Amino acid sequence: MTVTYLKKATLTSRSDASDTTKIVQDILNAIEFGGDAAAVEYAAKFDKYDGPFVLNEEQIAAASAKVSDKLKRDIEFAHANVKRFAEAQKETCTDVQVEITPGLVAGQKSIPVETAGCYIPGGRYAHIASAIMTVTTARVAGCTNIIACSPPRPGVGIHPAIVYAAKVCGADKILAMGGVQGVASMTFGLFGLPKANILVGPGNQFVAEAKRILFGRVGIDMIAGPTDSLILADGMADPEVVASDLVGQAEHGYNSPVWLVTDTKAVAEDVMRLVPELIADLPEVNRDNATAAWRDYAEVIVCDNREEMAATSDSYAPEHLTVQAEDLDWWLNRLNCYGSLFLGEETTVAFGDKASGTNHVLPTSGAASYTGGLSVHKFMKIVTWQRATRDGAKPVAEATARISRLEGMEGHARTADIRLKKYFPNETFD
Ligand code: NAD
Repeated sequence: MTVTYLKKATLTSRSDASDTTKIVQDILNAIEFGGDAAAVEYAAKFDKYDGPFVLNEEQIAAASAKVSDKLKRDIEFAHANVKRFAEAQKETCTDVQVEITPGLVAGQKSIPVETAGCYIPGGRYAHIASAIMTVTTARVAGCTNIIACSPPRPGVGIHPAIVYAAKVCGADKILAMGGVQGVASMTFGLFGLPKANILVGPGNQFVAEAKRILFGRVGIDMIAGPTDSLILADGMADPEVVASDLVGQAEHGYNSPVWLVTDTKAVAEDVMRLVPELIADLPEVNRDNATAAWRDYAEVIVCDNREEMAATSDSYAPEHLTVQAEDLDWWLNRLNCYGSLFLGEETTVAFGDKASGTNHVLPTSGAASYTGGLSVHKFMKIVTWQRATRDGAKPVAEATARISRLEGMEGHARTADIRLKKYFPNETFD
């Protein structure tokens, strides 16, 4: 492959987690042994907040009253779209039953986990859409208890629009607790909440590290790193739209990589000229994030042809992948590694991030090479069962006894023997 880098990243977003691990482990230990009181202390320390923690109906109604009717309608629109897509996913969670050999039947069932803990980030931006993505999907999956947990703003509480979105999407409880203390509260069942069986949702490095450490005693959706995005653009792409889409994703954070892969050098050059202009025009915080992300993490790659572009993209396994090129069906068939794919200029990552229906909790840092994002399936336990007639059990019992003895597992072998002797007393087995 002969790719040319017009711009190469100088930093990688796989930052070292050693400091974070120690900080997070200490907080988890303190909360596991100190319970509610310890979580309350960390809420005061990190978020300057002293309650209420689990919101009651009045507090939810008061927060909702602060949300404009227009924003309420937008939240309801996004919720309806995410719900519709999740319901289509749920239909694929069908039970399976098969007669393996005569008289031996095995099956598979999808059972929703009982309690889902949905973390909705809220430090830097008010991630209303994360409430919609996580809570709606858990509700459609059929979880019994859904906790929505989000950081309170100092002295104020959770952003009212996040409270409204969590309620509309079906949260049973809303917990005002951020970062590690939020994740810990859901895992350990603090504040009278049921213990979560699975934790889902994005968050900063403290949230991600807490989920990583707790994984095992609680399920998790994935470990999310900084968001990343790749655009595949051919000579037909509009450089202004491409540049705007790159900047839109670079504003996530100072270490959010954006990559452009093209077979047309003129497109690459136009985009490289336009991006700094668009960044300069952003509000200050967004501008600072995008400036650093573009300077340190962005790449612009020129390939010889579309096959090379696709192979390059697959090697990055981006979280978000956009195609602004001809022959969208070819790309849909060819591309294999991405969290979510946006085909054509008429759609864009921000649509999926906010309101179009597909989930925005997606694999980052190359994890799309082995997993997809949050879906109804992540809330389901795929379990199996079996039953047999006596005749159906016979050949399995014989094979089981022989295999077990060869393995030296005599106890196992005898569970087969006892059945053969009981069901077929007149036969001998070796
Ligand atoms: P956050 O809610 O993840 O974190 C805020 C919390 O961090 C605070 O409540 C505080 O308790 C904790 N914290 C802050 N400083 C700390 C410290 N020094 N030690 C211990 N704890 C500390 O909000 P955020 O920080 O704005 O991060 C949101 C993240 O979520 C971003 O990285 C964003 O990119 C990501 N995100 C990803 C997606 C996705 O789908 N990939 C969607 C939305 C947001």
